[in-house]
Amino acid sequence: MRLKNKVVLITGSGSGIGKSSALLFAREGASVVVNDLDETKGRETAEEIVQAGGSALFLQGDVTDPESIRGVVDQALAAFGKIDVLFNNAGISGVGAVHEVEPEAWDRVINVNIRGVYLPSKMVLPHMMNQKFGVIINMSSCIAEIGLARRASYSATKGAVLSLTKSMQVDYAPYGIRVNALLPGTILTPFVEQYLKTSYDNPEEALHGIKKRQLSEELGKPEDVALAALFLASDESKFMMGSPLYIDGGVVFG
Ligand code: NAD
Repeated sequence: MRLKNKVVLITGSGSGIGKSSALLFAREGASVVVNDLDETKGRETAEEIVQAGGSALFLQGDVTDPESIRGVVDQALAAFGKIDVLFNNAGISGVGAVHEVEPEAWDRVINVNIRGVYLPSKMVLPHMMNQKFGVIINMSSCIAEIGLARRASYSATKGAVLSLTKSMQVDYAPYGIRVNALLPGTILTPFVEQYLKTSYDNPEEALHGIKKRQLSEELGKPEDVALAALFLASDESKFMMGSPLYIDGGVVFG
């Protein structure tokens, strides 16, 4: 059990990669604080964990709202006494080239994907600094490293998360805190299914185009990213600090 006696808070863990990570982390012995904006989906994740014999608590909250996320962190600490791992996973998609994106849509993506990493970190870090231990995993994307058509706002946020990860690592290394980033390629989750449906006349053809950009013939699954997140969360990655970890079927490399 790689996360025995650890307490993990995963934002956006009602669905996709976050949910898969919550289930895996619980199987590896962690007590998992499941956070999501969506109450139904978040509750389902926590219930699945408990039904399988694991330890989980669902706390509804919005990663862009300081009071909401402070409440989540305070309740998690009250329930479990500590937070060892924060996985800043929640995020939303954004489609369009710069001239196409309306300011409100731009701000929404920036808000969830960047403020939504900053705020939970801000609330959890004083506790981690005090306990002189912590692991933070920030969700970037391989899009931070490559140019993709009509993904301006989303690319901007994921590049920012990578830079923020490095900056945080320098600031918090003296407190025994490691901060690393995940850079997935295309992973089949509700997020991607929705993006394909709303952005392309022919989603099947778009999927084919995505596969052609990869070296792998398979598309990524949430479990592929969850396994990488588990590695970053565990002591097995103790020499990784401020690093990007690619789980992209060879998109960036290729
Ligand atoms: P998903 O849509 O399946 O899950 C995201 C979850 O975040 C949802 O349950 C949603 O309710 C929650 N959420 C959204 N806004 C929130 C908020 N303000 N506060 C709290 N929770 C909120 O998406 P996914 O594909 O699992 O993506 C998870 C993360 O991985 C995102 O940051 C995404 O950008 C990133 N990512 C995904 C892919 C991919 O191909 N799926 C690739 C690279 C990076």
